[in-house]
Amino acid sequence: MELQTPIEYLKGVGPQRAEMLKKDLNIFTVNDLLSFYPYRYIDRTKIYSIKEITPDLQYVQLKGKIISFEMLGQKQGKRLVAKFQDESGIIDLVWFQGAKWIQESLKPEMEVIILGKPSIFNGKYNIAHPEIENVSTTTQPIGFKALYHATEKLKNRGIDSKTISRMVKLALQNTTGGIRETLSNDIIEKLGFPKREDALHYIHIPENAQQFTKAQYRLKFEELFFLQLKILRQKIHRKKNIVGFNFSTVGFYFNEYYQKHLPFQLTNAQKKVIKEIRADMGSGKQMNRLLQGDVGCGKTMVALLIMLIAIDNGYQASLMAPTEILATQHWENIAPMLAKLNLNVGLLTGSTKKKERIKIHEAIANGQMHILIGTHALLEDTVQFHNIGLTVIDEQHRFGVAQRAKMWKKNTTPPHMLVMTATPIPRTLAMTLYGDLDVSIIDELPPGRKPIKTIHSFESSRLRMNGFMKEQIKQGRQVYIVYPLIEESEALDYQNLMQGYETIFREFPLPEYKVSVVHGRMKAADKDFEMQRFIKGETNIMVATTVIEVGVNVPNASIMIIESAERFGLSQLHQLRGRVGRGEYESYCVLMTSYKLSAESKVRMETMVRTNDGFEIAEVDLKLRGPGDIAGTQQSGILDLKIADLVKDVQILHLARQYASEILETDPLLQHPKHANMQEHLSTLGERKINWSRIS
Ligand code: ADP
Ligand code: MG
Repeated sequence: MELQTPIEYLKGVGPQRAEMLKKDLNIFTVNDLLSFYPYRYIDRTKIYSIKEITPDLQYVQLKGKIISFEMLGQKQGKRLVAKFQDESGIIDLVWFQGAKWIQESLKPEMEVIILGKPSIFNGKYNIAHPEIENVSTTTQPIGFKALYHATEKLKNRGIDSKTISRMVKLALQNTTGGIRETLSNDIIEKLGFPKREDALHYIHIPENAQQFTKAQYRLKFEELFFLQLKILRQKIHRKKNIVGFNFSTVGFYFNEYYQKHLPFQLTNAQKKVIKEIRADMGSGKQMNRLLQGDVGCGKTMVALLIMLIAIDNGYQASLMAPTEILATQHWENIAPMLAKLNLNVGLLTGSTKKKERIKIHEAIANGQMHILIGTHALLEDTVQFHNIGLTVIDEQHRFGVAQRAKMWKKNTTPPHMLVMTATPIPRTLAMTLYGDLDVSIIDELPPGRKPIKTIHSFESSRLRMNGFMKEQIKQGRQVYIVYPLIEESEALDYQNLMQGYETIFREFPLPEYKVSVVHGRMKAADKDFEMQRFIKGETNIMVATTVIEVGVNVPNASIMIIESAERFGLSQLHQLRGRVGRGEYESYCVLMTSYKLSAESKVRMETMVRTNDGFEIAEVDLKLRGPGDIAGTQQSGILDLKIADLVKDVQILHLARQYASEILETDPLLQHPKHANMQEHLSTLGERKINWSRIS
């Protein structure tokens, strides 16, 4: 039997079961079945005694006799309870279904082995729906028993862990000798791996713990190795084949700005990153680079300087941001500085008036405008550049895949692309998620920044907090107060915000205190108006929902109060906190939460209080939430991993990446005969859902 044989042709499966396997478990072929790995093993050689049972035991095997049956309860609660006895004691076995059949097939005094998960009911242990085997008719069990996840629906239709196990065994028997090796002999020998065929046997029907441990290691490595091989191959392909503009010079604009108008000295990290980007843009190949750095590390200045290089080489550049507030702020920051160089910088957003928009379209098309800053509006087909050579995307995770792909088409040769993150991404995730991009990291904050003091607080401290706010405002500082806005409960959140706003209004009355408010239901123009008042220092307090989360830069603000902080994720909290501590002043972040917190919320608050380091926070976030909730992972294929875990298997990931890159260095197309296995296996793997290198 071939591995690619459709699952319905495996004996005992048939069309109906096949349909269910496909739908519920994504098992289409024999190969899919063999890579449906067990989630746990039970040591079948270990027989517990009833008195050994402890609450942390997931499964126990017991050997003994059923001494009595009894029907208990009514209706839904109706159940068959058996007293099961071994030499050490008695435990209840419980069935909610199939009572009749159980009673008929299990004669009292028959010696059986039962297997199940002990739980506590009314202060006593019991085991619900145990698996039962008759000692006299089964051979003494050997080795480990593999357990497979099945959905409730499958179980109800007779496909449970036991059925799956049986199918897997049959599949293994039928494919003996037909499971091809996927890795090279080199790797297998060097890493002491079992052969693929053996690994599949060991993982499904292990005789001992070493076998499945070894098999798991190999199969995890294999999975991550091929993922990395694929990503790195794409990168090599792009670097080789995708021509880009050659920005060979650094000329007047860059130098003039750098020498005369730079408002501060660049940090070493900023300099290093600019060097890396220059090398890319001067290589004749298209740049595809991810710029990572913590909140406030100065990514905008890097973007500005490299856009000047584009202009020096006769090209236009664009800077795209996910929100109007952010785009507008970039423009307000950049346009006046570049006006000194006689450069024309435009702003294009959803709310740009028609007349103005037409003017911008014209200036962009005839080349009079050098830099265009804006939102998604830049992507529209009506925006035709004269000759764009570089696109910078700020807070790239907020952009959809198709949107970013559009930027590639804005010139006949694709422009250089720099995508910037809002907050750091854990290294392991970046390696896979953005593994086909080149990565630059700004690992240093501008000098003189004082670390933000973070406090976790409760309602009882509100008075004290208000007093502290007043003190800071007296000293000329400004304050943010942020309320959560989560889509499902938008109306409620809006209410909270408005109530909060009213209390603040009462606590901080006019004319002494002035309050701005910004939320998602306002028109863009009103939002902007309020934002501007705060930026200019005309208001002391900004009450807002998370619309201010990204990028906003008001160096005079020194307090960030986050209401219902437990409702925010870690990266959002970190991003919000990053709105303060941007100037010379000692800054504070107050996390207001309710008294009752989940364990996870507690970890989030503790992490925020403990550290200001975005990279560290990102790692904790990944551990808490897993990769599934982190922006960008949904489309990346990471979530389709069958056995490896990006959080737990970091070591294996590094090893796999190292091997993959070493192999590609000497044999990028995997043409060497010793790599034939790999090449063949790689070609059978489905395309990655998205080709990041092409769209970012
Ligand atoms: P982010 O990387 O989060 O986008 P920004 O680019 O908004 O950060 O920079 C944050 C603040 O730091 C801005 O006010 C910016 O002017 C300032 N800044 C950037 N680089 C430096 C530097 N080398 N020295 C001093 N201040 C800097
Ligand atoms: Mg920024």
